Amino acid sequence: MRVRRLIRDTAAAQRIKQLHGGECQLCGLRLLGPDGRPYCEGAHIRPLGKPHHGPDVEPNILCLCPNCHVRLDMGAVTLDDGGNVIPRAPLSDVRLLPQLTMREGHYVHPDYLRYHREYWERQGRETR
Ligand SMILES: [Zn+2]
Repeated sequence: MRVRRLIRDTAAAQRIKQLHGGECQLCGLRLLGPDGRPYCEGAHIRPLGKPHHGPDVEPNILCLCPNCHVRLDMGAVTLDDGGNVIPRAPLSDVRLLPQLTMREGHYVHPDYLRYHREYWERQGRETR
């Protein structure tokens, strides 16, 4: 499987990361570096660039740990419109939250969740 990932730390992504205090919205992990600062990534739900052309706006961004970012980008996890987590691959020893962690001031738009979910549902059908 080839997965194209574009990680850009834009102002919008930085704000979302800060708002969540570095805590992963999918698994709750707060990955700390030796300096005591959390490491997390701003993940675009509808990806930036071709062929998705997702916007770089806060309702399209999640604060995720690196593993969950990869899970989102390769469709190993999707979400329903209400932010309920739908695993699509074996999780081994990882425990994901039942629902996306929401914080005041960060509205996640259901349209982007739906785009992501339906894209990966289509992919699943095409490869079978
Ligand atoms: Zn995570």
